[in-house]
Amino acid sequence: MKRIYMDYAATTPMHPEVLEAMKPYFADRFGNPSSIHFYGREAKKAIDSARDLIAGSINAKSEEIIFTSGGTEADNFALEGVAYANEKKCDHIISIPIEHHAVTNCLEYLKRRGFKITYVPVDKTGMVDPEDIRKAITDRTILVSVMHANNEIGTIEPIAEIGKICKEKNVYFHTDAVQTFGHYKIDVNELNVDLLSASAHKLYGPKGVGMLYVRKGVKIVPYLYGGEQERGMRASTENVPGIVGFAKAVEIAGHGFDNGSQTDKRIRQLRDKLIQGILSKIDDSILNGHPTQRLDNNVNVSIKYIEGESILLNLDLEGIAASTGSACSSGSLEPSHVLLAIGLDHESAHSSLRLTLGNGTAEEEVDRVLEVLPKIVKKLREMSPLIK
Ligand code: PLP
Repeated sequence: MKRIYMDYAATTPMHPEVLEAMKPYFADRFGNPSSIHFYGREAKKAIDSARDLIAGSINAKSEEIIFTSGGTEADNFALEGVAYANEKKCDHIISIPIEHHAVTNCLEYLKRRGFKITYVPVDKTGMVDPEDIRKAITDRTILVSVMHANNEIGTIEPIAEIGKICKEKNVYFHTDAVQTFGHYKIDVNELNVDLLSASAHKLYGPKGVGMLYVRKGVKIVPYLYGGEQERGMRASTENVPGIVGFAKAVEIAGHGFDNGSQTDKRIRQLRDKLIQGILSKIDDSILNGHPTQRLDNNVNVSIKYIEGESILLNLDLEGIAASTGSACSSGSLEPSHVLLAIGLDHESAHSSLRLTLGNGTAEEEVDRVLEVLPKIVKKLREMSPLIK
């Protein structure tokens, strides 16, 4: 059976050139970047160039990039690092309820440590109104954290406007750009962000490596204590192959920006074909997320009267890999916090299906999903106790 992968928001396959770039750093160039001999210097040079390239891609300075073990660590680092560095002065953090658990669970931890957390509601498309963020800011506010784009429903938040408000109000602004970094051109100065999280495995790079951009001057405490790696902000011997692979993935993504991101235009057209196909072929199906301000590769629908999990299992039997929400929460019986926050009732939230496309998605694959999915839905609805 030919398998179809439509879960690129969960992770992406590594680009072959990324793998080639990483290989030497597992074997011949194995040095510890902190060693002063040739082997160490060779490894250090590799991470320095990776840092330069990644910083340049977002108009940041090299010393503003801290490599991490992924997006989750970057998010935790940003929130805890800024909260603890400024706790004597302020204790209030603002965010939105549809953040990834890497943010919400960390905020809940900070709440238990005495910080005050405000979640500014989003509308039914998942979009937050920047003016509501303005209204939530008090003289106790340290930080605002709003994701660039949502991983489940694909809604792209008005980051530049929020950044402008935070700058005016003299409040730090963090964005989780895990779903956009390497897919959209990002300039940290145009967006007015002080901290930004990214993860390599969402842009055809390796898993287990990411970065946190921290604007010069931001008061933040280290995340890991130990050696002097990452200027003392994140101790531990660097993941040299991972960092090299991350930079290669960013370089390859940048070629897409140079040619006007043709790939994403192709993906956007396939996404629209899939959305229109599903909505027209399946009665009582609705699109979740914003109709236009959404990630080029994201389709998220609720298909009434049946469970998302049942659809997933049936798609899997047909060789089609999809998701019901974020990969991290699959296996849990709780409906997605994102879908509940945009106002879906429990039943609609349970009947959601996320299909995310990528560089490897072919039009025939979209056609196959549009052929198979309505049949699965018909079969499941015939068995559904929710239909009278
Ligand atoms: N933030 C968002 C928006 C994500 O989509 C993810 C991964 O799904 C993460 C954070 C966590 O990234 P990582 O898997 O690199 O820890």
